[in-house]
Amino acid sequence: MDTKLVVADFEDWREAVAEAIAVLEGDGVVALPTETVYGLAADAFNAEAVARVFEVKERPSFDPLIVHIGHKRDLDLVAKVPEELEEVVDELVEAHWPGPLTLVLPKREDVPDLVTSGLGTVAVRLSAHEVMRAVAREIPIAAPSANRFGRISPTSAQAVMEELGGKIPLVIDGGACRDGLESTIVAPEMTEKGPILRLLRPGPIPKEELRKIAKVVKPKRSKEDHVEAPGQIESHYAPATPLVVVERPEDFIPEEGLRYGLLSYRGEGKGSLMEATEWAHTEVMSPGKGKLAEGAVRLFYCLRSLDAAGVDVIVAEAVSETGVGVAMMDRLRRAAAGSKK
Ligand code: AMP
Ligand code: MG
Repeated sequence: MDTKLVVADFEDWREAVAEAIAVLEGDGVVALPTETVYGLAADAFNAEAVARVFEVKERPSFDPLIVHIGHKRDLDLVAKVPEELEEVVDELVEAHWPGPLTLVLPKREDVPDLVTSGLGTVAVRLSAHEVMRAVAREIPIAAPSANRFGRISPTSAQAVMEELGGKIPLVIDGGACRDGLESTIVAPEMTEKGPILRLLRPGPIPKEELRKIAKVVKPKRSKEDHVEAPGQIESHYAPATPLVVVERPEDFIPEEGLRYGLLSYRGEGKGSLMEATEWAHTEVMSPGKGKLAEGAVRLFYCLRSLDAAGVDVIVAEAVSETGVGVAMMDRLRRAAAGSKK
């Protein structure tokens, strides 16, 4: 299959949106830009099209998709917000939609089970990217990241082409992703003491922001120590090259004869591994002073470059676990777990 690449022009992206909608109406799938990472979109209410998403991604059906809506008011099309949660949901939506926040809520019956992997809940978000929102206003979209399952998420149309070129009919190029990491996912719950937010996946909206709205707690764990809510698969975001995260510079002892690639945060300064060995390839996420938000935007891009550089091992420097640094370390640790498989 030839994959058509259509650029969503900054001034007029309507044509690109119309092309995407035409594919979706024909039961097809299309890669669309969002502010987090590119998504592989299908009509959320068309089970056959949703099945195609799983097939193209080689994604196991136990890993549910996120539903993208086009207006705040469309939340009711896919979810049933319990009365007791209305207030906290309103506050979250007012503060963070459109934006990189996904809410897990009880689902409406007509959302296909395949979208939610048979769960009674659905993950919903309203993207800040004009193109995704314009498409979702016409058709609610089910979309996971537009990469092969378990691999590095795409933050550019080029990266989508590398992942899925030849497998899907259309990719809409909406530029580089503004945030560069998958959305923050929370499941609001009511307790005797008031509402809480279970943080199912850290993302661009940090805990510090969520805390202003309600108490933030960890996901539930079952007796077997398996995370109850899906999507917390330990190995994910994995390059094909083995990756290690070095938490303290003194822990890195290079082995003779191996070609190492470095994923550095700032490129120099305290804690940097720049001088630790002769690197075959280096990528710096936020050169100079180091800004976590810039690092987050560039993380997957840099990982992709390192993966293509033909090194034996990718060494990732740890970043400080504050703000979006929590999400960055989450992705790096899972990338390390995944690359061992
Ligand atoms: P991806 O598009 O690859 O970022 O994957 C979407 C992720 O959303 C899944 O892997 C889950 O983490 C999460 N998710 C979707 N639906 C639910 C749900 N009903 N409950 C908990 N997490 C969910
Ligand atoms: Mg993904």
